[in-house]
Formats: sequence, structure tokens, C-alpha cells
Amino acid sequence: MDPSARICLIFFGPPGAGKGTQAKLLSRDYGIPHISTGDILRAAVARGTELGLKAKALMDAGHLVPDEVMIGLVREALTAPATARGFILDGFPRTTPQAVALGALFAEMEITAYRVVEFQLDPEAIVHRLGNRLVCANGHTFSMSAGQLHPGGPCPECQAPLIQRDDDRAETVRNRIRVYDETTAPVRHYYEERGVLISIDASQSIDDVTSELYRRLFGN
Ligand code: AMP
Repeated sequence: MDPSARICLIFFGPPGAGKGTQAKLLSRDYGIPHISTGDILRAAVARGTELGLKAKALMDAGHLVPDEVMIGLVREALTAPATARGFILDGFPRTTPQAVALGALFAEMEITAYRVVEFQLDPEAIVHRLGNRLVCANGHTFSMSAGQLHPGGPCPECQAPLIQRDDDRAETVRNRIRVYDETTAPVRHYYEERGVLISIDASQSIDDVTSELYRRLFGN
């Protein structure tokens, strides 16, 4: 991809594969917004909006929020002026109807050059990473084991309290992996057929994944 042109990216892969971590880095380095549908929903839950109230129970159980709702949210986010130089879409599409709707939206927005980055990680690693994940209200994410951090302790970046996400509890994680395998994984074929898929081994360190990502996307 030409980094001086509009950078349109979809980050795809199971929960815990590091999509959000890499999206934040790329967003900072290339000045394009990170659009995480999970973050949009969590913000709605925190504000107690009608959407948030509906989404919370589904999210806590590891189920997906209905396609029509998600497609509406993504349309709104992608057509905002902030995406003029590009965007990183993280967590969408998660179903084939979402992928088809996104294809129609891209056509409407005259987006023809885009890439789908697939972060590959096996189920044991997913369970391990999510079980160890701590987040703060400002979206910073850490592994408990890496920095001797604990729930309730301060975020090393902003001092806000660290918590475990409700949907990172073991029983919900199992459900999220099942939903991913049954409903989301088939979306891969949709993009493979279109020749836009770039697959990356997400079990590498954060720095190694970033290096591979930038090299594969921009050749540097
Ligand atoms: P994430 O932060 O991407 O892991 O998303 C957290 C939760 O938000 C998911 O487990 C779903 O319940 C919901 N969610 C996020 N994105 C979508 C989507 N594209 N379609 C349906 N549900 C979604």
C-alpha cells in the first residue's frame, strides 16, 4: 500500500490476538483513526444509552450484537470526516452479512484499495491472553503476568484503575471462541477470494508483529 494514499484497513482475527494493540500503534504512527466496534459498544454501555443497555447482556454472554445495529454504527463511523486519510476497522465484520454490507459501503464510498490483516492465534493462547488481560477506562491494555499488575491497581499509562473486562471471564471466553469459529472465521474466505488478505502470526511479540505488519503493508 502507498502510505501517502488513503489507508483503508480491516483487522480480523480471534479475540485476544492483538488487533486493538496493533491498531492503536498504527493509528498513532500513520495518523488514521482506530475504529473498534467493541470500544464503541463499551462506550455506549458506560454512558447507559439505549444501545448500551441492549448490547451489555449480549456482550457479557459472549454473543454478537445484531448485524443491523452494527452495520448502522460502522456506516456512521466510516462516513465521518475523520476517515479522510483512512481508517483501521477493528472487530468488524464478524459475520458474512456484515462483510457484504461493508462491501456495499466501500463501493458507495469509492474505496477500492483496502487490505484485511488477519491475526492468527491458536485457542490455548487466546484463553491464556484473555485470562491475563487488564484494561483501564481509557482503553490501555496490559497483561497481568508481564508487569506484575493486578485488578484494582493503577494503569501504568494513566493511573486509572485496571479491571478485567466482564467478557474476559473464562466461561464467556469459551463462548466467544465458539462464536468466532462458527460465525466469524468463515468471513476469512470472503476476503481470501477477493485477494486482499494478509495473514500474520500473532503469537510473536508486540514489536515483532508491528514490524511484520508495517513491512507487509508498506514495504518498510
Ligand atoms: P471486541 O472488543 O472486539 O472483542 O468486542 C466485544 C464484544 O462486542 C463482542 O464479543 C460482541 O459482543 C460485540 N461486538 C463487537 N463488534 C461486533 C460486531 N462486529 N458484530 C457483533 N457484535 C460485536
